[in-house]
Amino acid sequence: MEYVTYKTFLKQVFPQFEKVRKLPLHGGMTCPNLDGTKGFSGCSYCNNKSFSPVWNKARISVATQLSELIPPLKKKYPNAGILAYFQPYTNTYAPSTQLKEIYAPAFLHDDIAGISIGTRPDCLPPDTIELLAEMNTRKPIIVEVGLQTANDKTLNNINRRHSFSEFQNAVIRLQEAGLIVTTHLILGLPGETMDDFRNTAKAVRELGIKAAKLHPLHIVCGTRMAEEYANKEFELLTFEEYCEAAATVIKEFGQDVCVERFSGESPDEMLIAPNWCGDRERIVSEVNRLLKEF
Ligand code: SF4
Repeated sequence: MEYVTYKTFLKQVFPQFEKVRKLPLHGGMTCPNLDGTKGFSGCSYCNNKSFSPVWNKARISVATQLSELIPPLKKKYPNAGILAYFQPYTNTYAPSTQLKEIYAPAFLHDDIAGISIGTRPDCLPPDTIELLAEMNTRKPIIVEVGLQTANDKTLNNINRRHSFSEFQNAVIRLQEAGLIVTTHLILGLPGETMDDFRNTAKAVRELGIKAAKLHPLHIVCGTRMAEEYANKEFELLTFEEYCEAAATVIKEFGQDVCVERFSGESPDEMLIAPNWCGDRERIVSEVNRLLKEF
């Protein structure tokens, strides 16, 4: 079966550009699941150092990050549009007046075509959505709301500290305000089966989410899950199992949800397992092979 690629999705959002490149930025915010508002230990798989190249730029202003990062990107991709991506931690975790100032250097920058904002479903109060909706009238704003799974029991086990219904509620309010919503899913969380992956994919499709990043559960150091894995409390999916899970999810997405990523990567020195999760080409090739059989 055919699925919608991220390239197609970007072309729909930014028809004026042949190519769009994402530029990760740090908005200087933390996360309510790390600063004690909701919890101190964070989601049990999370170590921001492992997934964001800008995790340590909290003290560098957005304007400075832009002036450092845009020139090399433009040199490499002179004709591409640039999507500013507020990536690590929770990028709506501040009062809306402060958020406006944080986003402004990127939003007002001539070289920035649009903004993508990674966040949690419980950090989207009405005034924040109002701000994003107002910005969206001038440049596309994509809100990436992390979900990982639609199974509340798993959400609780991995210490997300929000429910699926909170996610639904946030997505609906964002969409009602005219914003594009994307999400992030982890396949292979402890205790989950193919039925869970399929149910999560179905819930994402039914909510009208435009794109999803798929990741196999991978264990990185400095996380609670690293300890649980060392204690043999659960097993990871094999390469074959993950590819089958990803193909099943993509089949459930049909033509409605674009596939933004097929895997996740971590720096070698942080990754504990599995050793294949950075082999994106091999994953994409196997998932595509399975999709042809569907
Ligand atoms: S995954 Fe996101 S929400 Fe969870 S602790 Fe890390 S930054 Fe916070």
